[in-house]
Amino acid sequence: MNCPKCSAEMAPFTTEGVELDFCEKCSGIWFDHGELAFYTETTEDVPSMDDAIANGDSTDCPCPRCEDITLVETAFIPGESLLVDICPGCKGIFLDRSELAKVQSLSVERDVLRKVGRSVSELQDRGYLIL
Ligand SMILES: [Zn+2]
Ligand SMILES: [Zn+2]
Repeated sequence: MNCPKCSAEMAPFTTEGVELDFCEKCSGIWFDHGELAFYTETTEDVPSMDDAIANGDSTDCPCPRCEDITLVETAFIPGESLLVDICPGCKGIFLDRSELAKVQSLSVERDVLRKVGRSVSELQDRGYLIL
C-alpha cells in the first residue's frame, strides 16, 4: 500500500504485537482500524470516533486502503495538540513524523500513549525513523 502523504510504498513493521505500515520516505505510520485501540487498550482508536470525523478538517491525502476517500485531520485526544489523520471509510489512522514526535513527548505523561511511544522508540532504535 502507498503512503497517504508522499505516496511511497509503505513497509510492514511488527511491534508490541501489532503489524503497522511504515513509510521510510516521510516517516509516517499507518494504523488499521482497531490497531491503535489495541495499543492504547481501549475499545476505540480515538475517544470519540464519530465526533472526531464530524469535527475534523478535510485533507488532500488519499486513504491507502479505500478508493476515493480522503483523510480527515482531527485531535487524537480532545484538547491535546496531537493531531491524527483518520479515514471516514475504513477508520484507519495515519500519524506523520511531527505527530510521532508529539507522541514521544506526550507518552511520558499520558499512560494511554505509552505503548505507541515505545514503538516509536523502537523504530528510531532500528534506524527507520529520524525525528
Ligand atoms: Zn510517506
Ligand atoms: Zn480508508
